[in-house]
Amino acid sequence: MSFAVGIAKCSDYERGEVERSMALAVERAGGLPDIRAGEALVKANMLSPSEPKKAVTTHPEILRAIVGEIRKKGDFQIRIADNPGYIFTDAGALLGKTGVNGVTEIEGVTAGLLSDMGIRDVRGDLFRVLDGARVSARYLDAGFCVNAAKLKTHVETEISCCIKNIFGIADIGTRKKCHGSSSQKRLADAIVDLYSIRPPDFNILDAVVGMEGDGPSHGRPRRIGYIVASRSALAADWVAAAIMGYENPLCVPLMASAAERGMGPGTRDEIILNGADWGELPVKGFKKSSGLVRAFPTFLRGFVHGLVSISPKLDAARCVGCGICGKVCPVVAISDAPGSDRKKLPAIDRVKCVACLCCHEMCPTGAMTAHKNLLARLAEAFR
Ligand code: SF4
Ligand code: SF4
Repeated sequence: MSFAVGIAKCSDYERGEVERSMALAVERAGGLPDIRAGEALVKANMLSPSEPKKAVTTHPEILRAIVGEIRKKGDFQIRIADNPGYIFTDAGALLGKTGVNGVTEIEGVTAGLLSDMGIRDVRGDLFRVLDGARVSARYLDAGFCVNAAKLKTHVETEISCCIKNIFGIADIGTRKKCHGSSSQKRLADAIVDLYSIRPPDFNILDAVVGMEGDGPSHGRPRRIGYIVASRSALAADWVAAAIMGYENPLCVPLMASAAERGMGPGTRDEIILNGADWGELPVKGFKKSSGLVRAFPTFLRGFVHGLVSISPKLDAARCVGCGICGKVCPVVAISDAPGSDRKKLPAIDRVKCVACLCCHEMCPTGAMTAHKNLLARLAEAFR
């Protein structure tokens, strides 16, 4: 079986260039499939109320260009939506800061939280680790779904691209359950369980400016200059991993889990890449995430996992005592402790902590850092 991926150069977010590059990438991927009647949903990455220049969220010009592509197929109602991080419940702030509000000026386009039509209990045939999941009804019922992901690193899952973007379809309880394990593989399997419920009809990856380092919230924006399109999320993620410099993308547990279940290409030979050569994709000096055991071959990962650790560490000077880290911790390992200047500092119970790094991901000031032990630093230096 073969999987087409379209890729087009796009140097910045100037509207005309994004529209031209989007059209090229989509065409090179074989075009959008036919859209059934009903609402067309664009599942964006709106992790937090962050400005587009921070590269945390899918850029609004990418979303606007996707709307343009959908409209070429018919005059559909279009909804742009996501479930952001647990603590961001103010849809107005989310849509305003991310620039998504601007896209809703187009007639027939609305935006909001993905779970605003309710949540449904689901059990997928391909589930490996979850015994059930609670998922956005709007996502399940959409007549057509475009997955509009952002190319980013991720301290826990290594990459956050098309497959990872679907994690946001689940409610808070399900996402906490997925994070509440110390096993990186279990989290990857759980995310792919969610992805298997209803794979999106088409995938767009915003790789014009991506994120390197300790993503998905606190990495550095990195200019890359591509829009990637495919009907296969896994095939698009192969291209994303190649851009980040992975020689064997299947060493990323998330991708291995999807490939093992036949959800896309299991080898690079199964991908037809239109618009670029594989050799020109890697971005020179791209800083991968500190995600644990990347540097080791797959068969050593289980052993190395116990020795190479990355865990949360508070930088008290940057902490504003907002308490967000305590709210997002899936295993209730964070409690308030009195700080010297009367603000409440978070105290981490190291016995309970499963090192999921949700507190790092959601900390608004970057005060909860991702700390690597000596072996992790050595692994990083020698990779
Ligand atoms: S570490 Fe971050 S999230 Fe936690 S209280 Fe301090 S500023 Fe808030
Ligand atoms: S303290 Fe932070 S890293 Fe540890 S389990 Fe809680 S959220 Fe995860």
